Amino acid sequence: MEKSLKLHSDLAEDVATSSSFRQFKIKHFHLDLSVDFEKRTLRGTETLQLKCIQDSQSELLLDIHPSLSMQEVSYCRSEDDSDSVKVEFITRNFTSYGTTLVVKFPAPCKIEEQFRVVVKFLASDGPGVCWLDPEQTAGKAKPYVFTQGQAVLNRSFFPCFDTPAIKSTYSAAVKVPDGFTAVMSASKGEHRMADNTFLFTMEQPIPSYLVALAVGDLVSAEVGPRTRVWTEPCLLQAAKQEYDGVIEEFLVVGEKLFGPYVWGRYDVLFMPPSFPFGGMENPCLTFVTPCLLAGDRSLADVIVHEICHSWFGNLVTNANWGDFWLNEGFTMYAQRRVCREIYGEAITSLEAATGRALLRQHMDNTGEDHPLNKLRVKIKPGVDPDDTYNETPYEKGFCFVSYLAHLAGDQSHFDAFLKAYIDKFKFRSVMAEDALEFFLEYFPDLKKKGVDMIKGLEFDSWLNVPGWPPYLPDLSAGKSLMKPAEQLSELWAAEVLDMASIKKTNIQAWKTNQAVYFLEKIIEKSPLPRGETEVHTACVPCTVEWIRGDQGFGHRDLQCHLPSAPCQRPQLRQEDPCLCAIIGAEHEIQSLVSLTLA
Ligand SMILES: [Zn+2]
Repeated sequence: MEKSLKLHSDLAEDVATSSSFRQFKIKHFHLDLSVDFEKRTLRGTETLQLKCIQDSQSELLLDIHPSLSMQEVSYCRSEDDSDSVKVEFITRNFTSYGTTLVVKFPAPCKIEEQFRVVVKFLASDGPGVCWLDPEQTAGKAKPYVFTQGQAVLNRSFFPCFDTPAIKSTYSAAVKVPDGFTAVMSASKGEHRMADNTFLFTMEQPIPSYLVALAVGDLVSAEVGPRTRVWTEPCLLQAAKQEYDGVIEEFLVVGEKLFGPYVWGRYDVLFMPPSFPFGGMENPCLTFVTPCLLAGDRSLADVIVHEICHSWFGNLVTNANWGDFWLNEGFTMYAQRRVCREIYGEAITSLEAATGRALLRQHMDNTGEDHPLNKLRVKIKPGVDPDDTYNETPYEKGFCFVSYLAHLAGDQSHFDAFLKAYIDKFKFRSVMAEDALEFFLEYFPDLKKKGVDMIKGLEFDSWLNVPGWPPYLPDLSAGKSLMKPAEQLSELWAAEVLDMASIKKTNIQAWKTNQAVYFLEKIIEKSPLPRGETEVHTACVPCTVEWIRGDQGFGHRDLQCHLPSAPCQRPQLRQEDPCLCAIIGAEHEIQSLVSLTLA
């Protein structure tokens, strides 16, 4: 048998897990879950199929959370349950975001030994399991529950090796009350009517953070040969209309650029309005905010982003959260690469310019030297990886991948590299070293030239020096779209307001991202010299009218930027309320919105 490829990630440290993921391999795990909305609990039995990969292990360590109560653990060496024995277990403190389940074996495990561990547990209101009251759903009639694993939250859903360093297949049986439907990030699903149980299998290995479940009043409609939209009944028509026939094109372009789509189905679950993120790339079933139902297909780039995670992130995964830029920087590049194919260079450059402006704001707010402004973040033990979340891995990551493309020269060469990168590391987790060594191996001439050591642009500096990207891709193709937005922002910020020119700007004709770009330029210029009141009185009404539309539902894409709704942008999905995220703490625009929404 061929020895599997040795990677730097084989030795990757992950300070965010306390599990024994280097001592054991999870070959597969099965979850038996029963959903109780009244008690807000998931009663579960998890069966882990394990193999010992380091000799003489007397205990197994799994990541859990105080909200997950352990009831019984048993150990079994045979295929059936005949020699199953209950074993001792304890819970040990780990960090503020998790604890450790310590399972004691009857006798130390030897290397290569295979066995099963069965854990009975009860998951309640943990950080990864979100219970919604009916009022928090679109239909307002039935409760809803969904899970969110990234980054280290699934340890409150089920006991696991909660690290992106390792992957396994899983299956599940989810029993739900009558009138409810369960969906999961799985390649196969079926409904057993007799006991209203939904059966799932994920045939491809995935890291624990990509296991996801949602249960609610859910229905679905086909919108493509391998794609279905799932929503509450009241949103189904809108979801079908918005995405019918659209998503397949994204998948086809993705496959052309990055290689086969390995996950079988690509379904989209439109979440209740209280979903706090733009999107989460759960494999086979992306979770997205219903804000994407803009009515004009203008927010499809969020779906393109999540689809691109099917290759970058889900198929090739960062081995720890310090290298999160490998997931997000490559995905931003892939998203814009797909968008360029479909929508063209100008609009894609405009969108990338809005991303660059967000990075500018982020660095202005934190100071360029902030340690989070390195691509590779040094996460200290005890620090929740979610607390390191920011714009850098997305937009500085995009710049670095764009720089690699620039070094490669011809776009077709870099496209071929991306395809080869996916093929080489598929179903594995990688560190930056793995990716960059492969880049240099793939382009031996560049390696010979020492492109990784060019002064100021050393690969090592890209990874480990905080601050503004030392290379910016050329976005001048978007100039014609950026210019009117820049001009209007200058008029707003002028010492003397030129109302005639402000009124002449035809913002009705703008694309969504032009308005976003305009708002970002205003933030860069704020505080505005004339003070908020005067500028608002003069400039705001027409802009807000346009944002809100005639019935308040005009440009719903921009409504996503209003405080009550989550943000459209995946980069900002962990910020809430969204307006604060995109507009920053600058009160000009905040008071603009609060004034006019009152
Ligand atoms: Zn992403």
